[in-house]
Amino acid sequence: MPRVLHPQLKRALADRIRYYHELGIYDFYRREPLHDLQPEQREEMPKAKAVAVEPELFVVPKPEAAVADPVAALRLIREDLGDCTRCRLHKQGRKQIVFGVGSPHADLMFIGEAPGADEDIQGEPFVGRAGQLLNNMIKAMGLRREDVYIANIIKCRPPNNRTPERDECDTCSPFLMRQIATIKPKAIVALGAVAAKTLLAINAPMSEFRGHWYDFRGTKLAVTYHPAFLLRDPRQKKEAWKDLQMVMKALGLEAPRPAQE
Ligand code: URA
Repeated sequence: MPRVLHPQLKRALADRIRYYHELGIYDFYRREPLHDLQPEQREEMPKAKAVAVEPELFVVPKPEAAVADPVAALRLIREDLGDCTRCRLHKQGRKQIVFGVGSPHADLMFIGEAPGADEDIQGEPFVGRAGQLLNNMIKAMGLRREDVYIANIIKCRPPNNRTPERDECDTCSPFLMRQIATIKPKAIVALGAVAAKTLLAINAPMSEFRGHWYDFRGTKLAVTYHPAFLLRDPRQKKEAWKDLQMVMKALGLEAPRPAQE
């Protein structure tokens, strides 16, 4: 007989399954209740078997799922985020949520770590000194800031610009995943180790992350240095330029010619 789940339990399960889906995990394993079995039957029991969880049973549909227009879809994601209080950062001095900026039709997305002081004030990612450098990087690729989409792993400024905690990334990044799924860029550039580690779920140093493509849920993803790091160590800019040239090649972009005298 089908068991009826308590609505609270059903909601909790839905949240948990949605979380695993965000991580790309779709197969779940169910153990049979062993206490119903004879000892010899227990021996014969496979340890666990994969069960297909009907997503529609548990997964709360995302409001943007039925919307084809990415502008409207991004608006719905922003509305769903609301005046977010899902993690501790909402009570640790953030002024506003920094959702993301740029073209909803962008072929290229840049993903940084977290808003800093300037971003927190202006409500837009990468508007401070690191943002100026990112703008120059974008221009060097033959693009304008408004041609790409820029966002961060988390949307609220951590106090004193500390590195985001793991649980803050886990709580916030599903909204970024929905932004990516809506925009469907041809390529993503992760800026720095925090973005790379969170998106790829790999713990590696920048030296390993850089220089090749990753598959991020069917989208090409490259890693380069965070502009704030390049401000501290400008000698690495030529390395970052190599990364960007790899991206340009994949997107068929050419660097603009220097203006004639
Ligand atoms: N650093 C980031 O990672 N993101 C910003 O938006 C600004 C600085």
